[in-house]
Amino acid sequence: MTGMDLVSGRTGLFINGEWRDAEGGESFAVYDPADASVLARVADGSTNDVIDALDAAVAAQASWAASAPRDRGEILRKAFELINARADDFAELMSLEMGKPVAEAKGEVTYGNEFFRWFSEEAVRIHGRWMNNPAGTSRLLTIRKPVGPCYFITPWNFPLAMGTRKIGPAIAAGCTMVVKPAELTPLTMLALADVLTEAGLPAGVLNVVPTTSAADQSKAIMADDRLRKVSFTGSTPVGKLLVKQSADQLQRVSMELGGNAPFLVFEDADLDAAVEGAMLAKMRNMGEACTAANRFLVHSSVAAEFGEKLAERMGALRVGRGQDDGVDVGPLIEEKAVDSVSQLVTDAVHDGAKVLTGGNAPDGPGYFYNPTVLLDVHPESEINSQEIFGPVAAIATFDTEEQAISRANDTEYGLASYAYTRDLARTIRLAEQLEYGMVGVNTGLISNPAAPFGGMKQSGFGREGGFEGIEEYLETTYVSLPPF
Ligand code: ADP
Repeated sequence: MTGMDLVSGRTGLFINGEWRDAEGGESFAVYDPADASVLARVADGSTNDVIDALDAAVAAQASWAASAPRDRGEILRKAFELINARADDFAELMSLEMGKPVAEAKGEVTYGNEFFRWFSEEAVRIHGRWMNNPAGTSRLLTIRKPVGPCYFITPWNFPLAMGTRKIGPAIAAGCTMVVKPAELTPLTMLALADVLTEAGLPAGVLNVVPTTSAADQSKAIMADDRLRKVSFTGSTPVGKLLVKQSADQLQRVSMELGGNAPFLVFEDADLDAAVEGAMLAKMRNMGEACTAANRFLVHSSVAAEFGEKLAERMGALRVGRGQDDGVDVGPLIEEKAVDSVSQLVTDAVHDGAKVLTGGNAPDGPGYFYNPTVLLDVHPESEINSQEIFGPVAAIATFDTEEQAISRANDTEYGLASYAYTRDLARTIRLAEQLEYGMVGVNTGLISNPAAPFGGMKQSGFGREGGFEGIEEYLETTYVSLPPF
């Protein structure tokens, strides 16, 4: 088997346990970003199609909510095992449609699949509470119930993991769902639907409706009062629009939006470890991650040395097609992405930044950009306020801890942050004062299915993974009882 075999015969809409064509037989092309060739054509769901999918989700909701938690857990566990058995194919498929190197895509399969294992274990730990009220005059009982039919919109950068961390807890909690994968990378989600069916997921619990008309689709389904929950991972502007759109039917919302992660390196840091962490925090997914280190803020006494060491590592990376051996850095997702990264670099250089390595796109087909390190980036440069979403490390300096913290917090975003220091008291101050949902201390890798992933400020709200992840899919009914 190969990656594309996972979707052979499964490029339609997946509604009520069946593969079918979109209304009018509409379809759209999915491209390989390494050479812009067409990988497959996928059904292009209409607004009627998404309402059909919601009908199926609504019809399945009551029996799914009543199913045994252990059965739901076992389905997730079986899916976890099936995905493990096909990890190489999933990795190749993701590499083809998204561009990342196969080895890295394998890392995403492991990471993304862990959400299925984690939530297979959480399915049987949903419980309410029982207490005597303080005055002793009544008993308080709480019951946890699935929130109901959900709508998931996922981005292109982690085609598997951004799906599993919504689908996993929703299945565990007893919710049904309609999923709209990113139009740039829908294939992995279609393969995932197939695996979950094989694992025993009943028809109608998971429905997948790819579309090129995301705005129309989300408007249509969110106007329907049977939909109870929306979970979105993507850009802040679209997130804001969806929150507004959710107001009419007061759907519950979870929003995983953009980031502008600071990566602080203090004068007492182990510089080699900081460079190692920087490579992970910057280069995971070619920099196309909302947790990617966006602003390197380095103490002025060590900035030049840190920049030099980082440039040496970045300059040695091999750029190429994700499926070729020895490739470290694949193409960006589309031409627009390369243009946007180039523009940010050009502006930063214009404002005085020095290029230590890279600084341009290689010749030839595909949407590649060379790993780049910029030193002495001006604090006011555009690259400090925009999500770079590419393989560019922008280094600026600070002189005091207060300055570092205030610069780190000087953004409307609040998702991931990183800090390298060997001072414990400083570590605690940073954890308390950084206005971020996540702080990585002496590590460049913070995502973990057992941890609550999520942001504050304009990075959104809600948490995915950890004990918190399933809360997003549960309602509480409180029952008041007389004393007996
Ligand atoms: P990105 O810059 O990562 O592509 P987007 O926020 O544009 O971020 O896309 C993330 C997801 O949101 C994709 O699945 C995309 O199709 C979807 N999307 C974009 N606009 C809308 C919208 N108006 N309503 C619903 N989904 C949308």
